[in-house]
Amino acid sequence: MLNKVAIVGGGTMGNGIAQVFASAGSQVTLIDISDEVLTRAQATIGKNLARMVKKERITQAQADESLARLGCSTSLDAASDADLVVEAVPEKFDLKAKILADLDKITGPDCILATNTSSISITRLASVTGRSDKVIGMHFMNPVPVMKLVEVIKGQDTSEATTQAVLDATAAVGKIPVPAEDYPGFISNRVLMPMINEAIQCLLEGVATREGIDEIMKLGMAHPMGPLTLADFIGLDVCLGIMNVLYEGFGDSKYRASPLLKRMVAAGHLGRKSGRGFYEYEN
Ligand code: NAD
Repeated sequence: MLNKVAIVGGGTMGNGIAQVFASAGSQVTLIDISDEVLTRAQATIGKNLARMVKKERITQAQADESLARLGCSTSLDAASDADLVVEAVPEKFDLKAKILADLDKITGPDCILATNTSSISITRLASVTGRSDKVIGMHFMNPVPVMKLVEVIKGQDTSEATTQAVLDATAAVGKIPVPAEDYPGFISNRVLMPMINEAIQCLLEGVATREGIDEIMKLGMAHPMGPLTLADFIGLDVCLGIMNVLYEGFGDSKYRASPLLKRMVAAGHLGRKSGRGFYEYEN
């Protein structure tokens, strides 16, 4: 059991990851550069736990204990005594590399450094540290408290001991770990993103309306959400970023991003977060 866990980045993914570790009994430190983000993250976790109490899935005492196990900090030094650090800062190589290099200096020699990256090579990130055997991908899904899967990605030098410790830690927080090798997009995004991209290409070519494309995939393939709705939910900039990683990583034209996806991102129509993507959103 990894008792002390630090999460770096308290945004969408980081606060969910903090919640699941605190709920499972780990001492958690959530680290972000922004005090405002940390306050919001604590409020979100408090609200999520209160909802679980209301649904009688946990007791009030369990919710209180989980919250008591959660600390916050704006300094990376707060990760110094962690057994495991999960990095969940924005998807930028230089930012993640800087944080991992700093964590390599700050944390003890046995600490495992995990990254929640959606698409950046674990091997490349590991190479900036002096402990590439202890660097690994822990790709949680959004929303973290709900989704069961964690894709566990081994870099070129990730040791068996590190992989096993992370598989065990993932199971201990009630998630289902599935191992994958370190190739562009791993499994989840290598399969998902080309499907979304093809749906966008179908829209561009006028094969069906946006509603038609989504309905066909929902009713015909039993997908809970159509690919265009899902793209809006994920963020079109994120989808484009991952298509570019696949395109560059494999050097294969089958992964080229749809011109419509590029145009939407250039126009700032990023999906739900900007109020407009393939659909329009209020608020
Ligand atoms: P987000 O923008 O919601 O949160 C990132 C947080 O990192 C922000 O709160 C920001 O203040 C903080 N941050 C930035 N620089 C920092 C620094 N130097 N030190 C500490 N904190 C810093 O992003 P997110 O959606 O939570 O994504 C985080 C990671 O998870 C990315 O790598 C992303 O690809 C991956 N991911 C996201 C999703 C998703 O659906 N959102 C799903 C799976 C994986």
